[in-house]
Amino acid sequence: MHIRPNINNPPHGVIVDIDSLISDYSEHDTVLDLNSIERVENKKRPRFNLHSIRANAPALQLIARLSLPLMSILYFSTSAAPPLLVPLFIVILACLLFLFFHLYLYRQTTNLGFSKKIMISANQLDITTAHLAWLLDPATPAPMMLLIIIAVIGNGIQHGFTTFRALLQSTALIAPLVIIIRTQVNGFHSLPLIFLFLCTFFLIYAYFLFHRIDAIQSEAENRFTRLELDNYKLKQLGMALQKGEVRYRNIFDNSSAAMVLIEDNMRISLVNAKFLELTKYSKSELYNKKRLSDLIYKDDLKRIQRFHAKRKKMGGTTPTEYECKMVDKDTNIKHVIIRLKITQWHERMMATIEDITSRKQAKSALLRSIKKLRQAASRLTQSQKRYQNLFENTGTATILVEKNMRISMANSKFCELTGFSKNKITGKKRLSEFIERKNLYRIRRFHAKQKKRGLPLPTEYECLLIDNGRDLKHVVMKIYSPQEQESSIVSFFDITKHKQAEAALQDAHERLRIVSVIDELTQVANRRQFNEKLNNEWNRLKREGLPLSLIMCDVDYFKSYNDTYGHQNGDRCLRSIADAISNTVKRSVDVVARYGGEEFAIIMPNTDMHGAFEIAESVRAAIEQLQIPNKASSVAPFITLSLGVSSMIPPQSLSPESLIKDADNALYEAKRSGRNQVRMINTNKLRFGENRLEK
Ligand code: GH3
Ligand code: MG
Ligand code: MG
Repeated sequence: MHIRPNINNPPHGVIVDIDSLISDYSEHDTVLDLNSIERVENKKRPRFNLHSIRANAPALQLIARLSLPLMSILYFSTSAAPPLLVPLFIVILACLLFLFFHLYLYRQTTNLGFSKKIMISANQLDITTAHLAWLLDPATPAPMMLLIIIAVIGNGIQHGFTTFRALLQSTALIAPLVIIIRTQVNGFHSLPLIFLFLCTFFLIYAYFLFHRIDAIQSEAENRFTRLELDNYKLKQLGMALQKGEVRYRNIFDNSSAAMVLIEDNMRISLVNAKFLELTKYSKSELYNKKRLSDLIYKDDLKRIQRFHAKRKKMGGTTPTEYECKMVDKDTNIKHVIIRLKITQWHERMMATIEDITSRKQAKSALLRSIKKLRQAASRLTQSQKRYQNLFENTGTATILVEKNMRISMANSKFCELTGFSKNKITGKKRLSEFIERKNLYRIRRFHAKQKKRGLPLPTEYECLLIDNGRDLKHVVMKIYSPQEQESSIVSFFDITKHKQAEAALQDAHERLRIVSVIDELTQVANRRQFNEKLNNEWNRLKREGLPLSLIMCDVDYFKSYNDTYGHQNGDRCLRSIADAISNTVKRSVDVVARYGGEEFAIIMPNTDMHGAFEIAESVRAAIEQLQIPNKASSVAPFITLSLGVSSMIPPQSLSPESLIKDADNALYEAKRSGRNQVRMINTNKLRFGENRLEK
């Protein structure tokens, strides 16, 4: 059990501050709203006006009421001036009708339960009309006067005379005026005058009487209002108190914590709904029957008691908060925190009980899941280690590349390949930094193109890798992107050596190719190349119908030169001659070749015999210019060349051999004619019968 000692806050000093619990309770609720009282005072009786009649009286009633004024108008309009001459029966009839209507409507209004307001308005209308009739015809007042008296007294008794005050006042004021007019028109009559005086007296009396009544009434009203106000205040106060009590009860009943009030005999005297829910007991089973300690789990109770005993011995205070187990009616065990508070007013104790069972369960579930997670994590680290080993010792330079191209892992083989340490690579370098720029651009361009076409990207690339020393290495890069994973595994195979070997092989091939077409001693084309080129040119020019010329050169007395200066000097001499010929023949299409021994040949496509002769002549001059001494020569004291030129537009019937043969013949001619000279044969002309050698 977990006990929190509360030394700073001894339990007997703890006071339940219920107000603090009711934070939403406002003092203003008990204060009287003066505005609302004023509103009550200002409510006055409805005033008489035409609008209210129109608004309230039903159409039928209005029509009935209007019949009287209409009849009055009829009465006066049908009478000859002076109006008093109207036959009496009409007046009586009209009055009877009015009476009848009045009675009828009175009954109607009462039966239909019309409001007092409407009835007053209607009666006022009647009396106004009667007054009007009387004022206009006061000479023989009997029927009209009767009506007025009936109406005024009847209504006055029913609804109070004050409602007619204005009408009576106006009558009193207008009456003398009417009498004067009437006297002027009809002459003097004593009866109405007496009646008028009586009326005036009555009105004056009524006026003062009303005045007095008013004063008394307003006094009574004031007193009543005051009483009403006091009553209202008291009611409000009562309501506020009731509300406050309801609030406290609500808080107690609806608190999310289980609450219980414990009497000084430790018995439970009040519990809230939450407590009942927690313990599953009913109120009747708890009140004055159970103690709170009866509900605490036995072992826990013993422990608390032991703790209390120990505390008492040591002189410390007992705690106010306990975490323990509680047993409900169905013997279910619940984890709770009990907080005890001694109330201020009496020796009762308030306990709030918080159910922490679910929290406890959640905590233990959490602990269990943490344990499981730990186990899983350790398994994972084991397997991770295995994979790390595998990754490390794969024998291939391998890296793990994230989506942003950053390298998140690299094995030592990769470090070896690039010359960087692992620290400098992982998390710092991108794959692209290792790929040679042009290669990278090419790959990117290719990727863009593939993506545009919707084609898949290749998984293997041959490219150049830049290492720490900025040296380039040929590698094959293999990319493996496992599905549903952000990172890719990239392996590199160093093929630099393989590439170098390949290059060396290619080099050798090239060299072999050169060797096979170039004469080793003189570095001009060899006999094989000569044959190939001559054949190609022959066929091409045959198609195009253009001339092909051939110059054959032979060194004069070269045997003797060898004999005189030695074979090595002979070789050197041949090299000089070959260089001189190559330098003289400048067109790239021309081919200088060593035909054999000390014989050279020059193939000249697109060249006629004159062009070829000129070239042969300049070659001869160039060798002469070399001035290589040759004592053994009987032509000149230096090395000279004899040249034979042949030229033709290759005909369909002949082969290149005929061109060689012609050049040979011309060369023989040059030798025979004394060496160090050029001879030529125009084969096309020969074919046309002009067998002629030209110098
Ligand atoms: P001619 O003026 O009639 O041509 O007289 P020649 O001495 O040149 O006669 P020939 O053509 O019979 O002689 C060819 C000589 O060229 C024979 C050989 O000693 C020499 N010779 C051929 N090939 C080579 C070579 O590769 N190196 C050297 N040093 N001499 C060569
Ligand atoms: Mg020869
Ligand atoms: Mg020779």
